[in-house]
Amino acid sequence: MQKQEQIAIDGPAASGKSTVARLLAEALNAYFVNTGDMYRALTWQVMKHGIDPRNDPGAVAPLLEHLDLTCRPDAANRLRVYLNGTEVPPAEIRAPGITAAVSFLARIPAVRQWLVTRQQALATLGLTVTEGRDIGTVVFPQARFKFFVTATPEERARRRLRQTGETIDGATLASVTAAIEERDRLDSTREVAPLRPADDALVVDTTGRPVEAVVNELAAIIREGLA
Ligand code: C5P
Repeated sequence: MQKQEQIAIDGPAASGKSTVARLLAEALNAYFVNTGDMYRALTWQVMKHGIDPRNDPGAVAPLLEHLDLTCRPDAANRLRVYLNGTEVPPAEIRAPGITAAVSFLARIPAVRQWLVTRQQALATLGLTVTEGRDIGTVVFPQARFKFFVTATPEERARRRLRQTGETIDGATLASVTAAIEERDRLDSTREVAPLRPADDALVVDTTGRPVEAVVNELAAIIREGLA
């Protein structure tokens, strides 16, 4: 097993951090952990029970008692999310209906505590690249490598529009920009673990940059640090 070391990647919605984190994990032969998938999986699960975190946040925490969330690596070392032993369908948790509700579930302190414990347990896997909103500040504040990946709102909206299945039919650049900005507002103004760069994070603006160039830059920093 590789030495336990965490690489934290945070950033706003659709900043390209998932792609960067996934390719970086591949380049470093590390595990890839997408914590947004865990918040999405819980949103998907509670909405299946008829609970909408936007209207009824108080009904969410009691459901956690009956839930078992585990993460297991697939053949490519990407962690997949399982609820009560069954894999959560990746396409379903990325659907626009889940995206619109997830930040309301992510504001609930009991939900965050429940998930953070499970995210921290994944550090024992070895070398991990973990992406989210609070990885460098709350989940792995001791991580040796912390990056905050951003891009302009327009660039982020363009990228989101290109991802099939992640926007509603008829979505426009303006509507997607507005939805992204609203999610960032909710994520950065919540009381617990708001979206923000850790004081010791390197801020990486990916606007107009090919993803390979960003990944190469970060991989070089990490390889040098680990050498
Ligand atoms: O990264 P992704 O866009 O899939 O995350 C979905 C949502 O999950 C975010 O908008 C945020 O509300 C929540 N989240 C969070 N903390 C994390 C990861 C995601 O609050 N570490």
